[in-house]
Amino acid sequence: MHKDETLTDTNPRTDSGETIVALSTARGMGAVAVVRLSGKDAWSIACKMVAERKKFAALDPRNMALFDLISADGERIDRALAVKFSSSASYTGEDIVEFHCHGGLAVSSAVIDSARTHGARNATAGEFTRRAFLNGRLDLAQAEAVDNLVHARTDEARKAALAGLDGGLGKQVEAMRHSLLELKTELEYRIDFPDEAGQDFVPAQIQPLLDNSLKSLDALLQGADRALLASRGAVAVIAGAPNVGKSSLFNSLLGSRRAIVTSSPGTTRDAVESELVLDGHLVRLVDTAGLRESSVEAEKIGVEYSKHYIARSDVVLFVHEAGSDFRQAESDFLAEYGSGRLVRVLSKVDINPVAGSEAGDFIPVSSKTGEGIERLKTEIAAAVELAAGAPGAGSSTVTSLRQKKLLEEARGLLVALDKANPPEIIAADIDEAVTRLGEITGLIATEEVLDSIFSRFCIGK
Ligand code: GDP
Repeated sequence: MHKDETLTDTNPRTDSGETIVALSTARGMGAVAVVRLSGKDAWSIACKMVAERKKFAALDPRNMALFDLISADGERIDRALAVKFSSSASYTGEDIVEFHCHGGLAVSSAVIDSARTHGARNATAGEFTRRAFLNGRLDLAQAEAVDNLVHARTDEARKAALAGLDGGLGKQVEAMRHSLLELKTELEYRIDFPDEAGQDFVPAQIQPLLDNSLKSLDALLQGADRALLASRGAVAVIAGAPNVGKSSLFNSLLGSRRAIVTSSPGTTRDAVESELVLDGHLVRLVDTAGLRESSVEAEKIGVEYSKHYIARSDVVLFVHEAGSDFRQAESDFLAEYGSGRLVRVLSKVDINPVAGSEAGDFIPVSSKTGEGIERLKTEIAAAVELAAGAPGAGSSTVTSLRQKKLLEEARGLLVALDKANPPEIIAADIDEAVTRLGEITGLIATEEVLDSIFSRFCIGK
């Protein structure tokens, strides 16, 4: 794919030869289930799925009407609302029909079966949005924002995803890409007509243009980490020696009994994860195996797991049992990880009560009585807030690690650009940066990249 062309010129249109169908609402019990068809035959297939065909054919796009939905052999499936969208103004850029049926699985399954007997096929994960991208309705960064919005669990995540969906990132990236392309064209002119250009063009004029691009890149990257943390959730790992009460604390924080709690050391051999929202932050709480070195193979695996999780965590809750001496493994752990993102917890204070001053920087808690749990939640939220860093000047429109990495790579290329080099080399470096920027919006996108992005989507989105 040639990368200097615009999105509309380069992206292959989808082969709307195939009409796809899927349940677009969550699978399960609910008041309404939306079944969506998209593709060039969506309207004609849908027409065969209703008893009142003339009425359906006459239905104007974006108007809703009630129909009897029927199976291929004419049996009534449901009485449901239908709405058409025309390809010129639809989510996918293809003709769409949505059936708003009664909820539950039996109705939607029968409706989907009926669509399939008339020639539609099941949509793959994210295929509606993939078609929207391929038809130029969304850029790739916006498509990623759609997925983030669907998965948003907190207000901050929702706002970040919505900002991404507005396409601000794509517009800024495109503007930057265009000015870099102009610069490259200028340089190429110097290469082709060195006599007219003179020798001093490169160092003199390149800097202000590069500075502008770097300023834009910095602005986009500022606050990106916070936006990404909001959407993925902060990983908070509970660590500590076996039997100090980690699993009990995990359950107390979650208000449920997810982890198995037993009195024999080393029971929690694998890591368990669960999500909770604390002060508006999505926290992914992880309970790991004890840190004690052990000859038991399974526990060793657990120990490795906890280290693996700790390396990827944003916050670590270190649990020590009140009234007990520090074991070697615990001291070693504190020496290794005792940084700012550590929240220190003193457990089982119902057995060994501690006076406030004795606890030092440890938070006394009891999973049995609930003492200290609310304070601990506040401390975890504060540690997450600290780990998230300051919000960007505006709200960041970066919604995926992929976008952030590409922005960083483009920045790295521009920073490393050596203006003492001949224009050919500088032009090639700029071209590399232009390519990275093009990958953000999907102007340059391999099937592999698209597969990895859209496979994360729900079916029906
Ligand atoms: P882990 O190995 O660190 O995950 O520890 P567990 O959560 O499995 O707890 C080990 C034992 O300590 C179990 O018998 C729990 O019932 C007990 N325990 C945990 N937390 C408390 C607590 O706050 N108070 C009391 N009295 N017992 C606790």
